[in-house]
Amino acid sequence: MSLSPDLVAAVQDFARLDRVLVATDFDGVLAPLVQDPMDSRPVDGGMPALTSLAELPGTTVALVSGRALGPLRELSGADPDGPLVLIGSHGAEDSRSESGLALDADQQELLETLGDELATLREEHPGLRVEEKPASRVVHTRGLPDDEARAALDAAQELGARHTALDVTPGKDVVELAVAHVGKGVALVALARDVDAQAVFYAGDDLTDEHGFEALADDPHTARALTVHVGDSDTSARHRVADEHEMVELLQTLLAARRG
Ligand SMILES: [Mg+2]
Repeated sequence: MSLSPDLVAAVQDFARLDRVLVATDFDGVLAPLVQDPMDSRPVDGGMPALTSLAELPGTTVALVSGRALGPLRELSGADPDGPLVLIGSHGAEDSRSESGLALDADQQELLETLGDELATLREEHPGLRVEEKPASRVVHTRGLPDDEARAALDAAQELGARHTALDVTPGKDVVELAVAHVGKGVALVALARDVDAQAVFYAGDDLTDEHGFEALADDPHTARALTVHVGDSDTSARHRVADEHEMVELLQTLLAARRG
């Protein structure tokens, strides 16, 4: 297999721009999908190509993943003092921020208030469990007696409705209260604006990456995007490669072109 001539031409054009953002998903793009997610390892060549790209002028390089920041750093082997930006938890975590969180001050304050109010709720409904995620708290009622569980979920939803900035997602035995609308699309567009990129390269393999491709295409600032789907699923990306090994070939082609 080798890269399509269209894709190689697009890479050559992209490489000539002064300021670019090169971003990729991790699992299924740099690292093959495996049964146990913690067994995941990048294929040879991908991470070195990204690191070399990030050392070139006018080139910001980011890993954008659904994984939490810690495991993303560990599995990718990205140097904590290195040039790569790591965006974790679908955009809720950002390695550039001191706290590791991509939340603004209001959102962080709301997350603290939410934690306090849920602690009170837990006193009223013993057995309730609260899961902490980077941009949300998830209330779980599995195992509680039915009427108790219903009362606790109602109370959690009321709490969510009282804070209008919260995004409330009910499920079975569960309600998630989020302080930020995160997603790879939002994260990619924000990062591209931050670094004032003239164009964005983004590669991904999954449904969450489709949101990324669409958000880039929809935003006037990032409409000039070189989007690449890895695999053979339906996609709104403009280009595709077959697998992680072709992805490495693509990144090495981009590196060579950008080095000129
Ligand atoms: Mg993936």
